[in-house]
Amino acid sequence: MKHILFLMSDTGGGHRAACRAMEEALEIRYPGRFSFEMVDLWKDYTPFPFSTAPYTYTHWINTSPATYAAQFWINDRLFRLPFVSELYCRSMFTRMERMYREHPADIIVCAHSVFARPAVAALRRLRLGMPYITVITDWALPTVLWYDPRVDRLCVPTELARWRGRELRIPSHIMRLTGAPVHPKFMNVTLSKAEARAQLGWTQDAQVALLVGGGEGMGPLVATAEAIDDQDLTSELVVIAGRNEAMKAALEKHVWKRPTRVYGFVDNMQILLRAADVLITKAGPATITEAATLGTPLILSGAIAFQETPNAEYVVRKRAGLWAPGPAQVAEALARVFRNPAKLAVLVEGVKKLAQPDAIWNIADEIASFG
Ligand code: UDP
Repeated sequence: MKHILFLMSDTGGGHRAACRAMEEALEIRYPGRFSFEMVDLWKDYTPFPFSTAPYTYTHWINTSPATYAAQFWINDRLFRLPFVSELYCRSMFTRMERMYREHPADIIVCAHSVFARPAVAALRRLRLGMPYITVITDWALPTVLWYDPRVDRLCVPTELARWRGRELRIPSHIMRLTGAPVHPKFMNVTLSKAEARAQLGWTQDAQVALLVGGGEGMGPLVATAEAIDDQDLTSELVVIAGRNEAMKAALEKHVWKRPTRVYGFVDNMQILLRAADVLITKAGPATITEAATLGTPLILSGAIAFQETPNAEYVVRKRAGLWAPGPAQVAEALARVFRNPAKLAVLVEGVKKLAQPDAIWNIADEIASFG
């Protein structure tokens, strides 16, 4: 049995979701051939205060999105310079060396942009010889940090992501346009919308909007729910607060005019997406690909500048969703689609075209080809 080490971090919910998706797909496709382990590199292999990133990431984005976006933009330019990249890899070497010593594995799969380069640089310098595969978990236009020509395989989610790889001179025989990782459970939903609603105990005949802020309940969920509640709509609202306990408490305390259901972190997102008519979300890559898989059209309530804004542009260009940055815009966009079934139907068609049903199997096959 070959042991796969996933390099990831719980900064947001997307990296862990991608690793779980790969584990499950490999287990389905190649039962018993692989064992798995995830290591949170921010938490376990960076010095304080960086090691707190899994806890502070959401807070930073929520409280100071401009500074987060600025560092993202700067790094996306800085790390095009070979000497900057080299300095960074060198500064991380002893930590990466310790990581490989503490987590022996047969195959390395990197699912985090920040560590994609230092981890492969250390692997080569140590001449460890395990295959190293990067699976990009960002979506439309990933940051340059993801790209390194020393990897054995680079799985890219979109044409734009491949184009960026070419621009950065990644040899084409290394890159595979696999599509974005999405858990197989999103592919296997056989329930109809009515059955999904019955399972969840939702009303059958009302239009339902599902509001999510990533795994960590990011963004102005209360204000957005309030703005929707103030619209003169007959629809119902379901809000997922994710791991954000304070957000969940605030939503539960609120007195709503229209039927509103509040959930904490759910592990049956595929059922909720099947049951809902529209998904309102920030432009997180995992949530967008999951909605596309289930054919649930999107209202994008925001995007982390530079990191997620290309996702939003891509969704809108493909007519899979609407861009509505801010609570009032979301409420207005929702009213527009719920009052106009033809518009909703166009978005449903558009979002279905974004689906990449083979993606996770392509990724599993790429990984397994090194086993
Ligand atoms: N998610 C979940 N349960 C929740 C909220 C979110 O399983 O209650 C999952 C969601 O399905 C997706 C991930 O968390 O797989 C969120 O990833 P995304 O890339 O959209 O945003 P991030 O949290 O990484 O910023």
